[in-house]
Amino acid sequence: MAEIINGKELAKNIKQSLKQEVDKLKEDGIIPKLAVILVGNDEASKVYVRNKSKACNKTGIEYEEYILEETTQMDELLSLIEKLNKRADISGILLQSPLPKHLDINVAFRAIDPSKDVDGFHPMNVGKLVLGQDTFVACTPYGVMRMLEAYNINIEGKNAVIIGRSNIVGKPLVQCLLSKNATVTVCHSRTKNIEEITKKADLIVAALGKANFVKEDMVKEGCVVIDVGINRLENGKLVGDVDFEQVSKKASYITPVPGGVGPMTIAMLMENVVKAAKHQNI
Ligand code: NAP
Repeated sequence: MAEIINGKELAKNIKQSLKQEVDKLKEDGIIPKLAVILVGNDEASKVYVRNKSKACNKTGIEYEEYILEETTQMDELLSLIEKLNKRADISGILLQSPLPKHLDINVAFRAIDPSKDVDGFHPMNVGKLVLGQDTFVACTPYGVMRMLEAYNINIEGKNAVIIGRSNIVGKPLVQCLLSKNATVTVCHSRTKNIEEITKKADLIVAALGKANFVKEDMVKEGCVVIDVGINRLENGKLVGDVDFEQVSKKASYITPVPGGVGPMTIAMLMENVVKAAKHQNI
């Protein structure tokens, strides 16, 4: 039976030590502050933004929220980003995705000052990650890496399989795992015979957004299984991309949903805000 990686507990501990760090920074006149922009009425995004504001509250990070109408035009969004870029009291800017379809998210991400890009989505920060330079690592992959570290899971020389190649999870995670010397394979919607690949994996990270996709027969005995997926079933229940009940019988470690990667993503965002504040005040 797998050991459960308790992301909720780990995230709580990280936020507690961040709170102490933030208190000290404030004594030195450095006040970390996050500005969050939400455009439109996406219900899931509203929940994510609320969770981020709660985490700021817990860590002592100041928080400002900009809720823009669904009909907001690109020039209005860009001028808000520009205003926040210029404000010395704002350490980090987070633009909640997805944006309404008429807005170009890549243009918007590119407009954020890279030194305030606490989500790690600016092309300059993505490039730095690829080159192995210090940068803001996207919060979900960063959270996955911190979980592995906290549970002393050494991935050097191991076969790591990521399912999903999105810009926010799969692709940056490739770099993170490579930097720890794993041998990385990425599967996506065109991958053939996915189970042949996952069965050879020592580590599987499922990030595709399909409820219970990873089944027991796709996983080898002793595999470490990290479930990034968040899927709401028709009955309202939240589940991941992994069939937790079945796969946990075979895995050595597994993350639950909820209470796994989700809380860690938010904790890493808080870390990135504090890092930004410190860098801006060197
Ligand atoms: P996304 O942008 O929709 O990307 C999904 C990826 O999965 C794509 O690369 C897609 O392949 C691949 N895929 C889809 N169906 C597949 C299949 N049947 N077999 C193999 N690969 C398949 O999703 P995302 O934004 O990365 O999010 C993925 C999941 O993680 C979602 O459930 C999301 O809610 C969750 N998430 C959780 C957190 C967290 O904090 N826990 C953070 C971010 C996202 P193609 O590229 O070929 O289309």
